[in-house]
This record gives sequence, C-alpha cells and structure tokens, in this order.
Amino acid sequence: MNLAPSFLQQRLPLADLLDLKAFSEVCQSFAELYRVGLKVFDEAGNKLVDVKVGNADFCGYIWTKAAGREQCVATVGQVKSAPVEEVARPVAFQCFSGCRYVVQPVLYEGDTMGRVVFGPFVPDDLAALPATLTGISADFDATQAGAYLLKIRRVPQETAEKILKHFMDLVDVLVFTGHKSVIAARLHIEAVQESYRELQEKNRQLEESYQKLKELDRLKSNFIATMSHELRTPLTSVIGYSEMMLEGLGGTLSDEQREYLSIIMEKGESLLHLITSILDVSKIEAGRVRLVLGEVDVAQLLRDAAATVLPAARKKKVQVNCEPGALPRIHADREKLRQCLINLASNAVKFTGGGGTVTISAEVLAGEKLSLLVADTGIGIAPEHVNRIFDVFYQVDGSTTREYGGAGLGLAIVKSFTEAHGGEVKVTSELGQGSSFGLVLPIRQRPEQVMTPSVPAHPIGPG
Ligand code: ADP
Repeated sequence: MNLAPSFLQQRLPLADLLDLKAFSEVCQSFAELYRVGLKVFDEAGNKLVDVKVGNADFCGYIWTKAAGREQCVATVGQVKSAPVEEVARPVAFQCFSGCRYVVQPVLYEGDTMGRVVFGPFVPDDLAALPATLTGISADFDATQAGAYLLKIRRVPQETAEKILKHFMDLVDVLVFTGHKSVIAARLHIEAVQESYRELQEKNRQLEESYQKLKELDRLKSNFIATMSHELRTPLTSVIGYSEMMLEGLGGTLSDEQREYLSIIMEKGESLLHLITSILDVSKIEAGRVRLVLGEVDVAQLLRDAAATVLPAARKKKVQVNCEPGALPRIHADREKLRQCLINLASNAVKFTGGGGTVTISAEVLAGEKLSLLVADTGIGIAPEHVNRIFDVFYQVDGSTTREYGGAGLGLAIVKSFTEAHGGEVKVTSELGQGSSFGLVLPIRQRPEQVMTPSVPAHPIGPG
C-alpha cells in the first residue's frame, strides 16, 4: 500500500502557520505604538501584512516624479528580496530618500520562513534631505518634501533595531504556537485518514472472507444434500427387508431373531428420520425448497399428525388428544405443514413422561389467522433456552449422554416452513409443567407473503 508522505516532512508556508487576521491586528497595534510602518513577507516574497505609518505623503510626493517612482520601486525590491537569510539579526537598508529600513528574517527550526521589514523611519543622523532625493527632478520642492518628512518618525537606527528585535520575539512565539496547532490538527486528520484506510482494508478482507465462507457453506450444503440422499437409498432397503423378514416372507423366525430384527428396523427408522431432517435443512439452506400451495383440510392434518405419533405415545403411556371441530380450510403447502405438526407432536411425545398428555388442536384467531397448537404436559423448557431452540442443531440437553434422541433440526425446519408461509411460531413453556407450540398462519395466503424457506445463521453443534 502506498502511503502519501506525512505532512511532517513538508515545509509549511508562513501563512499556514499564522492566523493572518489576528496577526495583522497585532502588526497594526505594534506599528501604531511605535509609529513606524511594518511589512511582513513570506519566503516566496508574497506580502502578508502591510501597515503604513506616517510616510504616505512623503512617499506619495516622491512617487509623482518619474525618477522617484523608478528608484522607489528599486528600493522596495531590494528591501523585499535582498539576501538577509544568513543572519538572525536586523540588517539596515538605506533608501535614496534618506529614510531607512531595518529588515530581519523570520526563522523557524533552521528554515527561513519570510522577513519582517520595519520602516521607513528617519535615522536621527539625517541632517538634511540627501542629494539622491533632491536631484530626482528639476522641480523638486525640498521645502514641501521636508514638511512631509516630519510626519515620519525620527529614531536612531539602534533603537529601530531593538524595536524590531522585540517584534521578532513576538513573531517567534506566534509561529511556534501556530505550528503546534497546525501539527495537532493535521496529525489528527492523518490519524483519522489512516484509521479510515485501515478500516477499508479490513472491510475488504472481511468481504473476501465472507464470500469464501458463503462459497464453502454452499459446497457444504450441496455435499450434505448429496450424501444424505445416497445414505437414504440403502437405508430404505435395510428397513424394507427387515420389515419383509418380520412379516415372515423370508421364512420362520425364532423369537430372538424377531427381536434383533425389530431393533434393526427401529434404529434404521430413526436413522432415516435423522438423515431426512439433515437433507431437508440442507435443501432449505441451498434455497432449493419451494412451497407448493393448495387447499388444506386442517382438521384432517391434525388427525394425521396425531395418528403418526400415536404408536410412540402408546409405548410411553402418553395420552394423545385430538378432537378438531369445524375448521376453515387454509391455503398452504400441505406436506410442509404436515411435517411441521409431526415434528412438534413427536417432540411433545418425546419430552413428556408416562401418564402425561399431548393435545393437538387449532383455533381461529382475529385477522384471518389460524393457530395450530401442540401442547404437552412434559418437562418444559427453561426461559433462557426458549429463544435458541429454533437454531439448527440446538438442544437444551447438549450433553453426549443426553436422555432424549434427536439432532436439533426439527424446530429449525418448523420455523423455516412456517415463516415461508408468512406465519410465525409461538412458544410458551414452564419448566416441569409443559410446553405449548403454536403455528400462527394466515388463512388466505397473499402471494407477497410466500417466501422461499430459509434457516437462520446458526452455531454448529449443541448450544
Ligand atoms: P430434537 O428434538 O431433534 O432435539 P428440535 O429442533 O425438534 O430437535 O428441538 C430442539 C430442542 O428443543 C430439543 O432438543 C429440546 O431440548 C427442546 N424441545 C423441543 N420441543 C420440546 C418440548 N415439547 N418439550 C421440551 N423441550 C422441547
């Protein structure tokens, strides 16, 4: 990365170091106090300050004569640019008019920043107007010029030098403080610019990493989808053949063989369920799931879900209640809603102990909405977990020795499918008392409400 050179390496012009307005006022007061004019030039010869005191008439008169103008310009040029840089003390310049100037360079940290010209003043050793002035024209009026000269302060050169020295001390202080504040301000700007550059660079790296991660995530989802699909095919055969053998199609089985086969079938089925869930989530993540909308008989849907979990519930001696009354048909994806209800009902049975109850019902809500409810009297969920149970792979009991099976995918699928319908999942639960999950769905789907199912960004592994 190419950085611009720091301003600390740049030489700053005098005008940048001084507050020119305030500085002009200081010069004005100083010149008026000593009644001698003052000019300040920067290094390039630009005039920053020009205060005239007392010499206007005298110089004006000389300026009316052609030769006077010429010599005046030459003197001013000399005072402005003749070398004085070598010495840090006043240098005197004699004007052809008899007046005089003292000039001193403005030095800062070894650099010449400009010069201060103090004058014109009348040196106390000037007895009469010099011939260099009176001779500039035949009609030169010495009496008039002498009268004008009186308006210019008469002062010994030594005193003028001392006054200028005072003034230079003042200029030194002003340049020093000016430089300090310019440095502070520019350092601040450079620091901000530097942070901004760094931030931009970090942003770019972050964007790059994000794109890489997105690509990896897509590859992962594709890989899982393919693998799950490949695993499912042989597993269905394992389950199918076990079922056939249990039915006696492969010959008579001993009790022991029957028991072993039942275990193979049961474990095969839970494996199949797990693989199907993984496949579903990866398909959702890859954006490959679309809702297929149609008229859905909700009461039938609820009865289906109850019937699906009934065998497992019976085994655990959990009662399943499902007596839906008259319910409106809704416009939705039947298969996806069926899967949502089965996931909720399976959880309800799984997390409810013997003697408990699972109730599957529905109620019409205000605003053309329907809530499908699965309530249980099971173990309940502590408040700190309620917001996280919908994350992929999240389980309240994340230990390796956990009592309940599952992979933490069921609720992520429920949430994704429900939200794709323009609905929301509501949960209320009390530890030790039970839980209630509600799918609140619009009865009539408006096209803009329907979305592609998606799963939230998730931490990998249990909580
Ligand atoms: P799984 O049931 O396969 O672990 P889910 O995504 O369906 O995954 O549920 C996530 C977690 O939420 C469960 O592991 C459990 O801790 C909690 N949970 C879900 N439903 C219930 C319920 N009815 N009662 C108590 N806890 C529940």
